[in-house]
Amino acid sequence: RGKRAFIAGVADDNGYGWAIAKALAAAGAEILVGTWVPALNIFETSLRRGKFDDSRRLPNGSLMEIAKVYPLDAVFDSLEDVPDDIKSNKRYSGSSNWTVTEVAESIKNDFGSIDILVHSLANGPEVTKPLLETSRKGYLAALSASSYSFISLLQHFLPIINPGGATISLTYIASERIIPGYGGGMSSAKAALESDTRVLAFEAGRKKQIRVNAISAGPLGSRAAKAIGFIEKMIEYSYANAPLQKELLADEVGAAAAFLVSPLASAITGSVVYVDNGLNTMGLAC
Ligand code: NAD
Repeated sequence: RGKRAFIAGVADDNGYGWAIAKALAAAGAEILVGTWVPALNIFETSLRRGKFDDSRRLPNGSLMEIAKVYPLDAVFDSLEDVPDDIKSNKRYSGSSNWTVTEVAESIKNDFGSIDILVHSLANGPEVTKPLLETSRKGYLAALSASSYSFISLLQHFLPIINPGGATISLTYIASERIIPGYGGGMSSAKAALESDTRVLAFEAGRKKQIRVNAISAGPLGSRAAKAIGFIEKMIEYSYANAPLQKELLADEVGAAAAFLVSPLASAITGSVVYVDNGLNTMGLAC
C-alpha cells in the first residue's frame, strides 16, 4: 500500500505546504490537506475552478490529486475551546469539525490511518512588532498557532499514525540568530518548535517508532511571509550572501521533506535540517 500524508497548512499553491504535498504525491503518497478555516472557501473554489492546475502538474505529467481537504484551525484542540465570537463568525460557522481532535477523528473515519504528518503553518498577529513591544496576548497567540499547534497535532494524530511513520514541521533561523523584523514572538515560537522537535522525537519514537524532524527553510515569498513585510529583502540577502547564490525553490524544500519522511531517512529523528542554500553557515555576510 502507498503511504498516506496529511499536510496541515495548505491554502494556496505558493507556500511550502503545497510544495511538500507535491513532492509526496510525486513519490506516490495519497494526499490529504488541512486548510485554515477562513481560507477554506477560496482554496476549494480555486482548486475546483482549475486555478491551480498548472502548479498541480507532477514530473510524470499527471496532476496532483488531493483526496480530501479538511477545514482546520490548529489553535483549537476541541469544540469546548472555541469562543462564541469564533463559533458565530460567518467564515467558521459555514464549516464544522475543524478543531484538531475533530480533524483527527474525521480522518480516522474516512481513511483509518496516515503515515506522514506535515505541519506547515504559523501565525503571529504581532509579527511586525519588535519583541520589546509585543503584548502578552500577541506572544502567546504566536506560540499557540506556531508551536503548540504541532504538539496538539502530534498528540491527537498519534493514535492514527502507523508505526514507522514520520512528521515534519517548518522552522526558521530566527529561532537561533537575530533576524530584525521577525517579531511578535515568532522567533520565540520557532525556538520552541525546534526544542519540541527533539523532545517529541524521543516521546513519539519510544511510544510508536514515529520520527519527528523539522526543516529550517530559507526565505520564500509565500502568502504568510509577505505578511511579515520584508521577505523580498530576505530573499535578496540570501541570494547575495549564501554559499549557493541561486533562488531557493519551494520544491527544494518539498524534496527535502519527502526524503526526511521516507525510509531513506529511517535513522534521522529529532533533527533540524537546513534547506536554505547554506545561508545558515555564513559567519560574515559577503
Ligand atoms: P503559507 O502561507 O503557505 O503557509 C502558512 C499556512 O498556515 C497558511 O496556509 C495559513 O492559512 C495557515 N494557518 C495560519 N494559522 C492557522 C491555524 N490557526 N490553523 C491552521 N492553519 C493556519 O506560508 P509558508 O511561508 O509556506 O509557511 C509554512 C511554514 O513554513 C510556516 O511554519 C512558516 O513559518 C515556515 N517558514 C517559512 C519561511 C518563508 O520564508 N516563507 C521560512 C522558514 C519557515
